[in-house]
Amino acid sequence: MAYDTNNIFARILRGEIPCKKVYEDEYTLAFHDISPQAPVHVLVIPKGAYVSMDDLAANGSDREIAALYRAVSKVAHDLGVAAEGYRFLVNCGVNGGQEVPHLHVHIFGGRRLGRMIQIA
Ligand code: AMP
Repeated sequence: MAYDTNNIFARILRGEIPCKKVYEDEYTLAFHDISPQAPVHVLVIPKGAYVSMDDLAANGSDREIAALYRAVSKVAHDLGVAAEGYRFLVNCGVNGGQEVPHLHVHIFGGRRLGRMIQIA
């Protein structure tokens, strides 16, 4: 799938739409999900134009891939959910339930999450 430069997260990265930022570095941006599904629900996105985790794995640099994982861990620690545990989740494509076509890692925490998040 070609990258849509007008997707909502691309617009957040360009500063055209506000977000509740929790972390930013050279390669990543993290912000609160607008419709939280848990007491802590944050999205971590790469600054690069990647549609999905598949796209990042195929076309991203090792630095970008490492930065995304490190940002997820840092954000979980910074938001205080790492000690008691949390979930990170990436929806990929139609069957995965991906709605926004810019790669994003969900971080859920702050309560017992059960075995899986149910997506209707
Ligand atoms: P997914 O179904 O994995 O593509 O998840 C997309 C997520 O983006 C959902 O959890 C939405 O609540 C969230 N979302 C959509 N628009 C915004 C926005 N402007 N700011 C923050 N989160 C958003």
